[in-house]
Parts: sequence; C-alpha cells; structure tokens
Amino acid sequence: MGGAVGAIPILVAALVLSLCLHGCRSVQELSGVAGTRTHLQDDTKKHEVHCSRERSRIAWKIIEEYLMPFVEQEQYEISSKCRLHSDNDMFREQEQHKIHVETNEWRCGFCKKSFRAEKFLDQHFDNRHYNLLNYSQGQCLADLCGALHCDRMVESKKSKTKCNPAAAARNHHLCESLADNCFPTNQGHSASRLHEFFLRQFCDAHTCTGGKKPFSRGGKKQSSVLYLAVCILIVMLLPLFYLMVYLHQREMKKHIQDLKRIRKTGQKTKPS
Ligand SMILES: [Zn+2]
Repeated sequence: MGGAVGAIPILVAALVLSLCLHGCRSVQELSGVAGTRTHLQDDTKKHEVHCSRERSRIAWKIIEEYLMPFVEQEQYEISSKCRLHSDNDMFREQEQHKIHVETNEWRCGFCKKSFRAEKFLDQHFDNRHYNLLNYSQGQCLADLCGALHCDRMVESKKSKTKCNPAAAARNHHLCESLADNCFPTNQGHSASRLHEFFLRQFCDAHTCTGGKKPFSRGGKKQSSVLYLAVCILIVMLLPLFYLMVYLHQREMKKHIQDLKRIRKTGQKTKPS
C-alpha cells in the first residue's frame, strides 16, 4: 500500500514531463508551420501589388463608358502621358487576356487554363502571370477612382454616404489636374472641348453643396441598345397580352350567360 502511495508522485512527475515534452514538440511544430508561412509570405510579397485590380477595373469601365465615346467623337488621340491612357493601367494586358466562355467559365488567354469564376482567374493572373504586370511604369488606375466616381458605380443602389468636404475638394483637384493633363486647352479645339466636357462630366459633381451628379453628359449608347431590346420585347408581348385579355373576357361573358341561364331555370322551377 505504502509503495503504491509512494509511486504516485513519480507517476505525476512522469505525466507532467511527457505533457511538457509533447507541448514543446507542438510548439516546435507550430513554429515550423509559422516558419513556412512566413516563407510563403515572403514569396508572395515579391510580386505583391499595391493596386486594387477590382477598382482599376471599375475605373477602366468608367473611362470606357463615360469618356471614350466622346473622345472618339472628337477624333482625339489621348497622349500616353495622360493617366487615363490604357498604357497607364497596369492590369490592362491581363484584363484583355480574359476570355469569358460562358457564365461559369473564364479562360486565361495566356495559358488557356479554365476557371469557374472571374475571381479565380484574377488569382491565377496574380500567381502565374504577375511578370506581365506593367511594373516599370507602376501606374495604378485605381488611384484615380476618387476623381472618376468609382464608388458611385459600386454603390449606385445603396444609400448615399455622408459627403466629406475635404475629400470632395481633394477629388475635385485630382479631377481638374486630369482634365489639364489629358486635354490641354492649348492643343486645339477638340482638346478644349474635351477639357470642358471632362469638367462637366466628372469634376462638377465633386462638391458637397450642389446636387450635381456625375456623368451628366451620359455614356455609351449601350443604354439605347437596351432600350431598343426592351421596346422589341414589349412589341412582341403586346399581342399575347391582348389575346389573353380577349380570352379572359370571352370566358367571363360565357360565365355570366351561364349564371343567367341557371337563374332563369331556377325562377321557372320555383312556382311549382
Ligand atoms: Zn494562365
């Protein structure tokens, strides 16, 4: 009995020791994992880009939709010094190599690999084709988002956030500098007209006081294509609608006649 009691501290000590050893090993394992993780981080940091692909894409969409149709109309050539020029979008080449095969299939134009969603293709570009990014110039279109009203494109359906006068002033300044650099007024009538247009289309809305909206001069004629499609659809559906109304009315008439007949027969049978 005494021997058994004496063995208890030894057992406890052994248990503590084994727990400690196990714990130490776990810590070692953890640090090993952490080590590889930092290594991986170092690896990805090498081609980490401090420019949002998504916001750059929105900025490009705005340029394409609300600026380029007017630039083309004026037959004006935007200088590559202008930050709105496609050469100054570091993601442009990759974006142009996106193939949208169908709803759930996106293909890489460089290596033809397929993905289920655009975001996976984006990740693939980041991991496999980062060498194609326009590093030397380092131009980030997302940086112009303030001036170009990217948030308005994203939050068009959400409620408006409170206007910050300092941010509005900063964006207005950036917007004006874009107008000055891209459409210098001393470079002919087209440039002057586009300069004026740019101020009205993008810069005027950078204020907290007036109720001015961006893109006041409209955008691509794409909306009219949509309008046309809706019109065609309505014209096609209209006869169908009238047919249904006609059939419904005919049915109603028949029903009323039936009711009348039933009432009549009812009245006839009552006296007897
Ligand atoms: Zn690829």
